[in-house]
Amino acid sequence: MMTSEQLFEKAKTLIPGGVNSPVRAFRSVGGNPLFIKSAKGPYLYDEDGREYIELINSWGPMILGHAFEPVEKAVADAIQHSFSFGAPTRKEVEMAELIVSMVPSVEMVRMVNSGTEATMAAIRVARGFTGRDKIIKFEGCYHGHGDSFLIAAGSGAMTMGIPDSPGVTKATAADTLTAPYNDLAAVEELLLNNHNQVAALILEPVVGNMGCVLPEPGFLEGIRALCDQHSVVLIFDEVMTGFRLAKGGAQERFGITPDLTTMGKIIGGGMPVGAYGGRADIMKMVAPAGPVYQAGTLSGNPIAMSAGLAMLHHLNDHPNVYTRLDAIGDKLTTGFRQTLDKLGLAYTINHISSMFTLFMTDRPVIDFAGAKSCDTALFGHYFHAMLDRGIYLAPSQFESLFLSVALTDELVDRIIQANDESLREVVG
Ligand SMILES: *Cc1c(COP(=O)(O)O)cnc(C)c1O
Repeated sequence: MMTSEQLFEKAKTLIPGGVNSPVRAFRSVGGNPLFIKSAKGPYLYDEDGREYIELINSWGPMILGHAFEPVEKAVADAIQHSFSFGAPTRKEVEMAELIVSMVPSVEMVRMVNSGTEATMAAIRVARGFTGRDKIIKFEGCYHGHGDSFLIAAGSGAMTMGIPDSPGVTKATAADTLTAPYNDLAAVEELLLNNHNQVAALILEPVVGNMGCVLPEPGFLEGIRALCDQHSVVLIFDEVMTGFRLAKGGAQERFGITPDLTTMGKIIGGGMPVGAYGGRADIMKMVAPAGPVYQAGTLSGNPIAMSAGLAMLHHLNDHPNVYTRLDAIGDKLTTGFRQTLDKLGLAYTINHISSMFTLFMTDRPVIDFAGAKSCDTALFGHYFHAMLDRGIYLAPSQFESLFLSVALTDELVDRIIQANDESLREVVG
């Protein structure tokens, strides 16, 4: 039996940085990553035999807790009929119908294998539809690792200090325009200066990837209006917020209708799945209905569809999941605030329902600059103090936490207690 530490030493000789996705490496918080062996409900178990309470939930998908039985059962049933056919299946039709019924703006949808694929395809379709080349994104938003999006990117790129990745050509970078989040005037200026050249504007309607950042009142409405005025395709990247902030995602919660929506994470119930969809006139551009090419050998995979369908059906049929998530988020952040206020610490908590971030800064965090003002060293100490007490947080200041309904009130109290002790420890 190898410990997490031994596994990581070996992994580093075989896998770049020892991990298959950068933030997992714990670089920004120090120390070695835990290698996870199993998980059930609200708990994670590592290779060293320790138990942790989950506040990441696989970066979102485990919104119902780990190894949720209806999803487990759907996968067990599906594997008896082989694992892939590369031909259409009934489940894909069921999945498309369910997504269209749940997500307000989606009239047609195409399944892919990750959030990255969904966003790459969505901007290609927008470019094909408009005949324009440029896109607008916001500093600190993360839309997967497609070349066009690794400009002022959030999430792991931000955590590693490489928001503009080498390997992206100058030509690609030149087609990606960026604005500060929540800054409508900057967006308007970009649209005026690039008249009739912008195909799409893509954003996280609530940002999770520079930590949790909320749209200011009027921001999403203003973006919608500007896109209409300039005939720009508005893409909501709901890979994180979809099926999380409401069954219809942020667009339902905020009442804004995007032209295209990208989805991922929860949609696969823990399997590698993404999707993009939206207005039928735009989606009909996608091959073989139209000329914009996009394909996938394993797209709509029957095992993945079975997991996703079981997950989405549960969310669709149990609206109380969302009221419960709101309540858990409120209880947890209220408890955190009480400790922080008592200790007189500088902090900002951004919170909506089951997403929140404790930022180690006294500045309000409404954009990338605000997020970057955080004391990341202090966050690292806090992260480890929480881990020592059995609480598994995201190993970066620039990520949101994702709650699941598996958290009982008693577990929430334990987390609040651990937070209290951890903060006292790190401020000494
Ligand atoms: C996670 C994420 C992606 C990328 O999805 P992958 O499945 O990791 O490729 C894209 N957009 C947002 C908003 C995300 O949170």
